[in-house]
Order: sequence, then C-alpha cells, then structure tokens
Amino acid sequence: MRDIKEFDLKELEKELLSLGLKAFHARQVFSWLYKKGVLDFNYMSDIPKGLRKGLLDKFYTLGFKLLKSLKSEDETQKILLEVKDGSYIEAVTIPAKARVTGCISSQVGCKYRCTFCASGLLGFKRNLTTGEMIEEVIYLKDIASDNRITHLVFMGTGEPMDNYANVIKAIRIINSSAGLNIGARRITVSTCGIIPGIERLSSEGLQLELSVSLHAANDDLRSKLMPVNRKYPLKELIKACKEYSSKTRRQVTFEYILIKGINSSLNDARDLVNLLKDFKLFKINLIPSNYIPEFKFKPADKKDADSFKECLLRNRINVTMRRERGEDINAACGQLRLNYAKN
Ligand code: SF4
Repeated sequence: MRDIKEFDLKELEKELLSLGLKAFHARQVFSWLYKKGVLDFNYMSDIPKGLRKGLLDKFYTLGFKLLKSLKSEDETQKILLEVKDGSYIEAVTIPAKARVTGCISSQVGCKYRCTFCASGLLGFKRNLTTGEMIEEVIYLKDIASDNRITHLVFMGTGEPMDNYANVIKAIRIINSSAGLNIGARRITVSTCGIIPGIERLSSEGLQLELSVSLHAANDDLRSKLMPVNRKYPLKELIKACKEYSSKTRRQVTFEYILIKGINSSLNDARDLVNLLKDFKLFKINLIPSNYIPEFKFKPADKKDADSFKECLLRNRINVTMRRERGEDINAACGQLRLNYAKN
C-alpha cells in the first residue's frame, strides 16, 4: 500500500491510468483530499464504485495516529502524532486575528544539535516523506477553526534543507491550486543556515519566505550555540541570504532568541547591526526564549530585551518581538515530543 499524498497531480494521473482509471480522476481525487477534506475513497462519489476498489487496494490516505492534542489559553494548539514506524512528531497551529499559521516538522529528530533546542536532544532518526508532511497539514486543518490554515511554516522539528527533495515536493503540492492552495508567500522555510539549501531554494522559481536562525552575530558565539556555524560561517551565510532576497525579491527574516547573559547585551545588538549593515531586504524577529528545563539557558530580562530592540530600531532595522505563544503547553519546538519520550 502506498501513501497517495506522495504523488503530485501528474504522477497520480499516470498511476491511475495504470489502474484503468482516467487521468481526470486524479484531479477529482486531489479535490476530495485537499479541497473537500474527504479522506475515505468510499465517499469519493464522482469516481465509479468499481474503480474506487482499485484505489482502496493500492493506496492509503492517512497513516498517523493522534496521540495528544493540547490547547493553550492563547488558542495555540499542539498535536503529537505517531507516524507509521512508531516515531513521534509534533505540529502546531497558531491563530492570530485573520490568520492561522500551521507549523510542521520535516524530520523525526534533528542532527544539528543547536544548544537551545529540544528537538536535537533525542538525536536524528529519519526524514519525513512528502506524504507525511502533507498529512501534518491535514491534521492541523482538522483542528483549526473553520478548518483553515492560511500560513505554513517549516519550523517544527528537523532541518528542512536537510530533507530538501521531500520538502520541496510537499511545498509544491501544498502550494498548487489543485492541492491545498496555500500561496508561496504564505509558506516559510526555516533553516539553521545550510547554505547549499538556501542557494537551491532561490532557484526554485517560488517566492517562498526564508527564515534563518541566527541567534548570534559573531562566529565564536554562533558556533557554540549552533555547531552548524563551523561548516557555514556567518559571512558566507549572510552572502547567501542576500542572494536569496535579490533573486526572489523576498525579505529574509533572521530569528534571534534572546538568552540571558549569552547573546542579549547591547554589544551583541551592535554586532548584529554591523553584521547586517549592507543588507537591504531583511527583518529581525526577536524571540524571548522559552524556558526548557533540560537546558541551562534562561530568557533575557525584559529590560535587556527592550534595550536590544531599541538599539536595532535606532539603526533603522525592521524588527519585531515575537509574542510568546503556547507556553502553558510546551509549544517550543520539540518539547512535547521530548516530554512524551521521557514518560
Ligand atoms: S533549531 Fe532547528 S536545526 Fe537546530 S536542533 Fe532545533 S530543529 Fe535542528
């Protein structure tokens, strides 16, 4: 049995032709799955009954088990899913005014071991398939109010650039008008700074949002916080980001977690201004770090966080301070999965 969500429209047309169905049945199946949210072939009423049997014998539509669903006081919802091989993954919905952002994982675990992130603590197990990433979105749609996900971020567990082919195929199906139809500008790929991935993404002809986890403005500190910096140091990383924004005409977002006593002083803010001084199209998203008991890091004091932000604003940098969301349900990346694995 194969996961039907692994196929893009063209591939599904070919598959269905080989089963005696017509190419146009693929578009009908897409419409049931992605537009109408019907996931049982038996209810796909415009496909002749006899032909539905071929679909039932060859494909499945859903492979996950929902293990846990938590809702925060601020309406953020997090789900823990068991995938077919018994691994756990997390996905989150974050409603804000008219938008509902879905945050999905791209791998089971992560090999990059950023020192502030719970996702890396259990190590890396495997890449998620295209169908599995699409299934995360289907689950999130199901728990969202009005069954609507307006924006999508690849910011959950895993490094999307490390699972490039599956991620980009999932994005194309999610973005396509026959599929989930979420606009490219509403889809964000977040990376810890894998330069070849950024370069490839800039050539896809898609105006995807790129978000880069920066968290330090000098190589010494960044290499301590994010070992990936030893392979892809800041100077080259910023160069690749500039090229991404000039090729796609999209603003790059740099994520910066403010950690007490580590990277949140005024000197750190000035280093950041310097690092980005020739960059035109970017913004900085400051994140008050979630406290995770497994780490020694603590969130920066509010006073320091405000001074940091002020310094960036004085230097005409476009900066936002992300509101903490879902603190009461362990919404930081990887926390729920980590807690579940420990119990
Ligand atoms: S921040 Fe991203 S790249 Fe780093 S360990 Fe966590 S999931 Fe992996």
